Amino acid sequence: ANDNLFVALRDAFPSDRDRVAIETTGDTPLYYRWNDLDRATARIANLLQGLDLPAGSRVAAHVDKSVEALMLYLAVLRAGFTYLPLNPAYKAGELGHFIQDAEPAVVVCAGANFGWVSKLAFTSGVAHVFTLNTDRTGSLLERASFQPDTHEPAVRAASDLAVILYTSGTTGRSKGAMLTHGNMLSNARTLKEYWAWQPDDVLVHALPIFHIHGLFVACHGALLNGSRMIWFDRFEPGPVRARFADATVFMGVPTMYVRLLADPALTPEACRAMRLFVSGSAPLLAETFREWQARTGHTILERYGMSETVMQTSNPYEGERRAGTVGHPLPGVDLRIASPDADSGNGGIEVRGPNVFAGYWRLPEKTKEEFTADGWFRTGDVGRFDSDGYLHIVGRAKDLVISGGFNVYPAEVEATIDELPGVAESAVIGVPHPDFGEAVVAVLVPRAGATLDGDTIVNAVKTRLAGFKVPKRVFVVDELPRNAMGKVQKKALRDQHQHLFK
Ligand code: ATP
Ligand code: MG
Repeated sequence: ANDNLFVALRDAFPSDRDRVAIETTGDTPLYYRWNDLDRATARIANLLQGLDLPAGSRVAAHVDKSVEALMLYLAVLRAGFTYLPLNPAYKAGELGHFIQDAEPAVVVCAGANFGWVSKLAFTSGVAHVFTLNTDRTGSLLERASFQPDTHEPAVRAASDLAVILYTSGTTGRSKGAMLTHGNMLSNARTLKEYWAWQPDDVLVHALPIFHIHGLFVACHGALLNGSRMIWFDRFEPGPVRARFADATVFMGVPTMYVRLLADPALTPEACRAMRLFVSGSAPLLAETFREWQARTGHTILERYGMSETVMQTSNPYEGERRAGTVGHPLPGVDLRIASPDADSGNGGIEVRGPNVFAGYWRLPEKTKEEFTADGWFRTGDVGRFDSDGYLHIVGRAKDLVISGGFNVYPAEVEATIDELPGVAESAVIGVPHPDFGEAVVAVLVPRAGATLDGDTIVNAVKTRLAGFKVPKRVFVVDELPRNAMGKVQKKALRDQHQHLFK
């Protein structure tokens, strides 16, 4: 048997391969049929195989989102190499780090960046640099067009490496998570059942594809079900909302939901065809969850995952989706809370299952550190199960504030602040303090038109939470620093305020 993930995905293509698999959006939409996906990935796989690369070679993609970029990913799987997606926003210093760390044999970049990327690549020992632009120009497709459009997928074992996925770097320098064909296929199959995917589902795809959410959860989901995708190269609330009329599934990060809610045309009518809205990558505010219900009649399904484990928990498809929680462990995935705090029940979230990665690329020590002696992976996230078995994430272990010897879980303080009038959202951090070790500091974004006063906020929190959780300082800002996946960059906030009390 061939456990190559590509084979499983292709086996799920509908029998009528002339049907549309992906349609792009914009002024001149393109329609890609299932046959096109098969033939184009065959051509690119043939091109890659013809390069005589050593076994296990990495193929790095530093390209803007396009259907062809997805095809490149599928072709790398098909040819049996290891895919390395990189954020196209990375500049020379960042890209240089990833190229030196991962030592890819091939780099694919945008034509406009060929000058600096190729210099960087060739001086780092990369053998081949191709270009791929969002308008289908570039040397990758030109060269692939001379290749045969059939290709026998490389034989791969479930335990073979498929992707090196660099983590988002929220807590420090990105680490390369080594994901196998088996990790991703088991997870995609589980989600197919759990979210009740149907062949006639239509997915609105508006996420970046250099990250698990857009590439694995979304694309694998649609491909494994032979479902059509409506493809946006970038997220824009109006155009995306307009296509809900033709679709059944949408996946987004919380900031996308917030931006969609700002559009008055978001109505129950606009979402009538839809079956499922999924949120993840960062915590969804309970308020966004409720507003979405009120405005659309749909309940967002929040799930939780990470580069190292793909998806690990999800709110139920049938049954109650609980705001502020990430639901239950997925079937086949074991989760436990390590050394829970006596009062709150909060502790380190640990996971075990077929979804858990093979380790950090070239970081054996770090890998060893993050696995327990009995083989569980330490996620670095802190949380607890409620009495109904829903997992609540209260923050990252690295974001936990220890003030005067007491643990402060940022999520609890943030939720309290967010309920106060005039507050849109908040980030709670710990900064060095001479007496307390760390002091709680809150950074707030006001609602449009509201003015916030720090003392009022502090007094209101005092009536709701124990004294040690109350912010010692409050800052009001226009927006929180976020990365491409909408994750709040707490490290940046901590750096900014590190000398507040010292
Ligand atoms: P790094 O590991 O480099 O610091 P990162 O952890 O942000 O970066 P990812 O693997 O992209 O990199 O993100 C996984 C993390 O995202 C999880 O560990 C968790 O903290 C957060 N996350 C994902 N989904 C949710 C969710 N639904 N609610 C809260 N947090 C979430
Ligand atoms: Mg992480």
